[in-house]
Amino acid sequence: MNASAGDIVKDHLNQLHSQDELSEIDKEAYFEEIKILLNQEDAVLVAHYYTSPEIQMLAEESGGCVSDSLEMARFGREHTASTVVVAGVKFMGETAKILTPGKRVLMPTLEATCSLDIGCPADEFSAFCDEHPDRTVVVYANTSAAVKARSDWVVTSSIALDVVEYIGSKDQKIIWGPDKHLGRYIQKETGADMLLWDASCIVHEEFKAQALLDMKKVYPDAGILVHPESPLSVIDIADVVGSTSQIIQAAQSMSNDTFIVATDRGIFYKMQQACPDKSFVEAPTAGNGASCRSCAQCPWMGMNELKSLADVLRAKDNEVLVDFEVGRQAVIPLQRMLDFNKLSVS
Ligand code: SF4
Repeated sequence: MNASAGDIVKDHLNQLHSQDELSEIDKEAYFEEIKILLNQEDAVLVAHYYTSPEIQMLAEESGGCVSDSLEMARFGREHTASTVVVAGVKFMGETAKILTPGKRVLMPTLEATCSLDIGCPADEFSAFCDEHPDRTVVVYANTSAAVKARSDWVVTSSIALDVVEYIGSKDQKIIWGPDKHLGRYIQKETGADMLLWDASCIVHEEFKAQALLDMKKVYPDAGILVHPESPLSVIDIADVVGSTSQIIQAAQSMSNDTFIVATDRGIFYKMQQACPDKSFVEAPTAGNGASCRSCAQCPWMGMNELKSLADVLRAKDNEVLVDFEVGRQAVIPLQRMLDFNKLSVS
């Protein structure tokens, strides 16, 4: 991430206030009210794995979905509801709006962003692409609508390897943005010719290889599951490297009773649900020299609270809007991703 993007992230984090703990009675009252409001507004709630357990539970109980960003986009588009409420971060709301321009897309907060999105301003990224017109532009889903509009392909971490392999098989050279760690991992796995943008996820960047090796001594039989937004030194220690959905599947299919997990701790809600008899431990973020601001918890995902969810359904504000022309351009690589995924899983 360049210096100015780093400063923006720090400023933003300093402004975030700590959330008030709700009593069980308050939580129940919010659950009841939000379910009624979702019904009244013909709305469906789609939540990311990194949101709080309460938000995930509510999405499940109200007939919505809890998933990774690819499945969130598909679910919101295919659902019959006229309003999609996205509990996640800004780029997820934008993606839902781009894919379903006829639907109203609301978010509990429009302030929830992502260090990868911040670290990849559209004008700078576009200038970088202009310098290399011979390269195919592949961007991670964690980008603004304008960056997607400048790209040839959008990918999520669940299909990034497959897409880059496919592009590489056509002898095309690639510009990859914005996550340098994911880019390096893909480059290593595929051997593709990739020019990398320099941004990172503030959550996954904090996982430390040496501290993880030390933890493995405490849990010698544990499987190590790592999200590829982590540094390569951490990825190298993993038993399985994968997207959020792939990590959950790995926990189900592997025989280990215990897992050390290097991704946002929000995922533990679904992992524990999928594997009630197994134990999950957060990978360490506090290695020597660490300056952890996140500690396995995305501060922006944490802004999706029951209160802000109820507020947005009452006021119907926080609507996600995307410029028509930007949306028209961005839907092309997004649709390419969805079509590719359909082919690769069928
Ligand atoms: S966990 Fe990282 S990649 Fe995901 S939204 Fe937060 S900052 Fe962005």
